[in-house]
Amino acid sequence: TIDIQAFLRQHIKTMTPYSSARDEFEDVSTTNIFLDANENPYGTALGEPYNRYPDPYQRAVKQKISVLKDIPTKNIFLGNGSDEPIDLLYRAFVEPKEDNVIILPPTYGMYKVSAELNNVTCKEVALTTDLDLDVDGILAAVDNNTKIIFVCSPNNPTGNAVSTDRIIALIEQFNGIVVVDEAYIDFSAQPSFIQKIEKYPNLIVLQTFSKAWGMAGLRLGMMFANAEIVRVFNVIKPPYNINQLTQEKALEALDNVDKVRDMVAKMLSERNRLVEEFKEMPLVKNIFPSDANFILIQVDNADANYQTLVDQGIIIRNRSKVLLCEQGLRISIGTKEENDVLLEKMKQL
Ligand code: PMP
Repeated sequence: TIDIQAFLRQHIKTMTPYSSARDEFEDVSTTNIFLDANENPYGTALGEPYNRYPDPYQRAVKQKISVLKDIPTKNIFLGNGSDEPIDLLYRAFVEPKEDNVIILPPTYGMYKVSAELNNVTCKEVALTTDLDLDVDGILAAVDNNTKIIFVCSPNNPTGNAVSTDRIIALIEQFNGIVVVDEAYIDFSAQPSFIQKIEKYPNLIVLQTFSKAWGMAGLRLGMMFANAEIVRVFNVIKPPYNINQLTQEKALEALDNVDKVRDMVAKMLSERNRLVEEFKEMPLVKNIFPSDANFILIQVDNADANYQTLVDQGIIIRNRSKVLLCEQGLRISIGTKEENDVLLEKMKQL
């Protein structure tokens, strides 16, 4: 385990946070007269009142997430998508030009983009050929300046969950932060790592409202971590990173978890159907097992077939040049009707 304070970048330790509107008041009654934040007192042109700054700490939303996920609110940080905490992780812990992080390709692209943006070296240790963690290889790549290892499970773009034992081996043996990105966990049979943050202060779990929850357009990501890390993130985050509309819609969605579960069940049943159909297609040479709401397949002539589908109005993701995914096409699970069209067009390829 690690000492979070010792692990922070030096200048972050003594930083004074921005003082948000009404920050010093735990609970502001709406009967108060607010003349402190230079807002428009009359409302908006929209008929709905969005004239006030939102709660900078999204207390009501976190309360509901806390109940749903069975985790204290002090362990929850919300971001403008889960891409925001990815960037904040670099800013909190990784010294530009000095420190480095480790990513495990093929994997989600933003870990590396954020590294470049923050002028940080990104070491790459490929997944094994069966798409699991190469624990020895990863630990061998660690040096004194390695601050974070990014694990994506279920992994994008391959779709598989990596083995729990290997993630735990990393958490236990790496003297730094292990991020487990669970953007697709709601589609997986594997349990989440959320409950393990209590035992492991160096574990950070990311989840999102963009996938199973169907709220990609609202931009809301979740980070679950040691309370000390959450406290630091509240110091360094942009003041009102989750807007009022998103907070309201999240509260509504959190009251309708059954609808989310229904949609997930439909996507899982469509995932099974697509896999069965792909098995019958001579075009498809390999189907990667999926714990996510997409399937990676390997086909003949991926580039040409990708283009043919795009020309017919079906946009999928061409991953044909990606390590371990050569000739790969990544296909998101659509509605039944969309998948019917996809299958029909694929049969003609
Ligand atoms: N992690 C993974 C593995 C993803 O695939 C994505 C989105 N494609 C994200 C994080 C970011 O999602 P968001 O910012 O919408 O929460």
